[in-house]
Amino acid sequence: MGESRTALVTGSAGFIGYHLVRRLLADGFRVLGVDSLSDYYDPELKRRRQAALLQNASFTAVNEPIETPGLLADLFGSEKPDIVVHLAAQAGVRYSIDNPRSYLDSNLVGTFELLEAARAHPPQHMLLASTSSAYGANTEMPYRETMKADHQMSFYAATKKATEAMAHSYAHLFDLPVTMFRFFTVYGPWGRPDMALFKFTRAMLAGETIDVYNHGEMMRDFTYVDDLVEAVRRLVDTAPIRPAGPDEVAPGDSLSPVAPWRVVNIGNSQPEQLGEMIAAIEDALGIEARRNLMPMQPGDVPATWADAELLRSLTGYVPQTGIREGVRRFVDWYRDYYEV
Ligand code: NAD
Repeated sequence: MGESRTALVTGSAGFIGYHLVRRLLADGFRVLGVDSLSDYYDPELKRRRQAALLQNASFTAVNEPIETPGLLADLFGSEKPDIVVHLAAQAGVRYSIDNPRSYLDSNLVGTFELLEAARAHPPQHMLLASTSSAYGANTEMPYRETMKADHQMSFYAATKKATEAMAHSYAHLFDLPVTMFRFFTVYGPWGRPDMALFKFTRAMLAGETIDVYNHGEMMRDFTYVDDLVEAVRRLVDTAPIRPAGPDEVAPGDSLSPVAPWRVVNIGNSQPEQLGEMIAAIEDALGIEARRNLMPMQPGDVPATWADAELLRSLTGYVPQTGIREGVRRFVDWYRDYYEV
């Protein structure tokens, strides 16, 4: 109904990309998805997500790495996207310790190619995924966007923080409206096999022991994927405008004084202990977990907690699905998908 805008979404065969593209298509967007179908985790899961999206004639997919020189510039030139959502990245905190180079290619060079493409063919709004890990060693809770976000503890977080600075400089120099998201531990159906919920569910169904870091006392602001998509969708139509000066930036807003750029947390604002997530899986599966309690892992932070007031003031919305309900929906999907 009514929409005739084109959205370019990178990482469209990824977990979040799949859900967001479905929403954009339902809202009438034409969507061009770019995804290399990287083998960081099971590419078959990515192919199946993409195949489901391709059922809709308004969706087109390009399966190339975004860091390919000129690839995105050519696509921006031919498709003239109105909005761009940049989700493609090498994700994962722990994997980045032993495999840093892939983070350089996908996250830094890939984002650079995207920014160059936007410089040549400016969209109305670019929205880029950063992470709660960008808050680094900060222990003040909840995390507010206006807090210092320094001292990143993993190379993944370091590259994501660098993309925030890169995007800011392009927003400033070339007047590109940019929203940076800081996502907080997103979970739900079609979720990522490298993340705890997926790994625990798989292991518990197989009768295996689960490795529980920080003795289960780690706190995470688990955010259900449909809630995250709702927030992202609302922000698509909320492009920042360059303020005339610092006085025009309201307290609590992370708007840049010198660019149409801001950073927005997308999180549930209700942190839970890892142990509570495990209890939710036990309930949903009807299986008791066998836990192998382990210390904190290098690169990890003990807790994350989003202040969602900026999101609320910009969109009138905050995520609300509780962990029990969200985990139940994930487990239902998992059993159906893997027929277990
Ligand atoms: P995902 O790994 O499922 O999705 C990323 C997609 O990008 C994958 O399909 C992958 O094939 C693709 N990709 C990777 N490198 C690429 C490249 N060089 N060129 C083209 N495609 C490439 O991860 P996700 O959970 O959907 O995350 C989406 C975004 O959100 C990422 O930027 C991630 O860093 C960020 N994020 C996710 C979470 C979370 O909890 N899921 C939390 C914070 C931030």
